[in-house]
Amino acid sequence: MKTRSGKSTRRRIDDRPTADEEIFRIEKAKARKLRKSPWWSQKIQEGICHYCGGKFKPEEMTMDHIVPISRGGKSGKGNIVAACKTCNSKKKYYTPAEIILRDDMGKDITF
Ligand SMILES: [Zn+2]
Repeated sequence: MKTRSGKSTRRRIDDRPTADEEIFRIEKAKARKLRKSPWWSQKIQEGICHYCGGKFKPEEMTMDHIVPISRGGKSGKGNIVAACKTCNSKKKYYTPAEIILRDDMGKDITF
C-alpha cells in the first residue's frame, strides 16, 4: 500500500484488524450478498455439484470458493461454485491444484 501524504494521523494500529482479516471479512460479506442473489438461487435450483457433477436438492447445495478466501480467492461469480455438502467438506481449504495433487498422491498434502 502506498500513501502519498506523509502526515498520516497517528492512530493505534494494534487493535485494528490486519489487512488479511479485513479482506477476509469483506469477501465473506460479498459471499453472503451473492447467496441472496438470483444468480445463486438459480445455481442451487439447478442443483449440479461443480465437483462431482451430481444432482442435488437446493437445500443440499453449498457455496464454495474455488480458491478459498484464506488462500487469496475472491467472492466473485468467477470464483464461486455450487457444491454438494460432501464435496465441499472434502475440499476444505485446498486450491484446485492441491486437490489434484492430493487425489493423485492419495494422501493429504499442503504447501
Ligand atoms: Zn459433489
